[in-house]
Amino acid sequence: SVSVVLFTSDLRLHDHPPLRAALDGTDGTVPLFVRDTAVDAAGFAAPNRLAFLADCLRDLDAGLRERGGRLVLRRGDLVEQVCRVVTEADADEVHMASDVSAHAQRREERLRRALEAEGVRLHVHDTVTTAVAPGAVTPASSDHFAVFTPYLRRWADHRMRDPLGAPRTVRVPDGVGSEPLPGRSTLSGLSEGLATGGEKEGRRRLTAWLRDGVAAYADRHDDLAGDATSRLSPHLHFGTLSPVELVHRARRAGGAGAEAFVRQLAWRDFHRQVLAARPAAATADYRTRGDRWRPDREAERDIAAWREGRTGYPIVDAAMRQLRHEGWMHNRGRLLTASFLAKTLYVDWRVGARHFLDLLVDGDLTNNQLNWQWMAGTGTDTRPNRVLNPVLQAKRYDPEGRYVRRWVPELAEVPRAMVHEPWRLGDDDRGALGYPAPVVELAEGLDRFKRARGP
Ligand code: FAD
Repeated sequence: SVSVVLFTSDLRLHDHPPLRAALDGTDGTVPLFVRDTAVDAAGFAAPNRLAFLADCLRDLDAGLRERGGRLVLRRGDLVEQVCRVVTEADADEVHMASDVSAHAQRREERLRRALEAEGVRLHVHDTVTTAVAPGAVTPASSDHFAVFTPYLRRWADHRMRDPLGAPRTVRVPDGVGSEPLPGRSTLSGLSEGLATGGEKEGRRRLTAWLRDGVAAYADRHDDLAGDATSRLSPHLHFGTLSPVELVHRARRAGGAGAEAFVRQLAWRDFHRQVLAARPAAATADYRTRGDRWRPDREAERDIAAWREGRTGYPIVDAAMRQLRHEGWMHNRGRLLTASFLAKTLYVDWRVGARHFLDLLVDGDLTNNQLNWQWMAGTGTDTRPNRVLNPVLQAKRYDPEGRYVRRWVPELAEVPRAMVHEPWRLGDDDRGALGYPAPVVELAEGLDRFKRARGP
């Protein structure tokens, strides 16, 4: 018999249950990736992510070739393409990972029906893209946890499966053609400092992180200039690393840093179980707060300043410029730029989420939309009206101003005491900087938000 393993957000060979199952007891296996045109049409084909994806597909193909196999790439409607490959290979089963978005859930159902009509079974595997499957732990009264802390307790107690090694050999039947693999060279508009994709690079980073980085994570993860987080997010997004393996290896490393790191991986699973149960939360408010966000037309100038990193608040601008330059932003930066847009400027979180998805190499429907909702107060934050003050945040998380100076060269020479508040400089000094005045007074923004949200 022949099987097909359909790769989606799990572009790796290590710890891959669908691949393992597809290889078991078959005469041949077709490793397949479909560039789903529906995903592209929905606006997810951002250049930074396409570049990272191209790296991942080439690396996956190289890994398969080392084992005697190869990757088959198709483009089009995913269901049609899988059915075609099944016919060409005369396969009798298909293995894939479960996923949470509305599109993924609908697609899985369509695929199941289409394959069943041909007498082919679809096997959907959990714990490929999460450490704990959505729905594996639930509170007594609901189908998902809406608050993180009780979720974390149950998540941490849940028995996780052991990670699997990579297969030694993969035999692909003849006669199944592939489109050429994409490269980076045809893409334009890439961020200059974009990370490299692929499982090999992901594993190299993970090993280096567990050796050199994780121990200090608990103390240093919020240090903006220190850049002391793992930067594994694009690898988790594309699945070049397995969340199950990450949790195992971090727990084995032990210590407060590893514990804090594992907690972040639980956040990732938390958001996934929310979206699996409430797929509409990708676009609609998870909890409505009666917001009447400023109409885009009126707020247009502020939105443009925010996107370009010219709000006049150095820490906000530094983070927004890091996003453009690297296709990645530090978590503290994401929090405070999101708070600034949604609360201080009172602009619809969807406007900000869209901009992030246009640039982030780890841009992820679940993590992005639900973190935006969390910060906008329409999501799962139990203190939905908290507003982060960018000046206080800057003084706390960038005390020397190194992060600001790195990303906002206009402020490179401003003394430490004023680097986060350049408006306090004398008129002449300020004028010479070529750096904008604040788009809004913080107190004014806060008043507007309080009036709009009510108590
Ligand atoms: P580390 O601090 O090393 O954390 C390890 C891993 O834990 C991350 O790679 C990530 O997979 C997971 N993680 C950490 N924090 C969170 C969190 N708050 N929610 C869910 N998972 C988390 N993350 C994305 O992967 N894609 C996004 O599109 C995304 N958009 C965001 C938008 C906003 C407004 C905010 C506030 C956060 C967003 N995050 C997103 C979460 C977080 O900022 C990033 O995962 C993190 O900064 C990635 O850097 P790292 O890998 O060095 O993280």
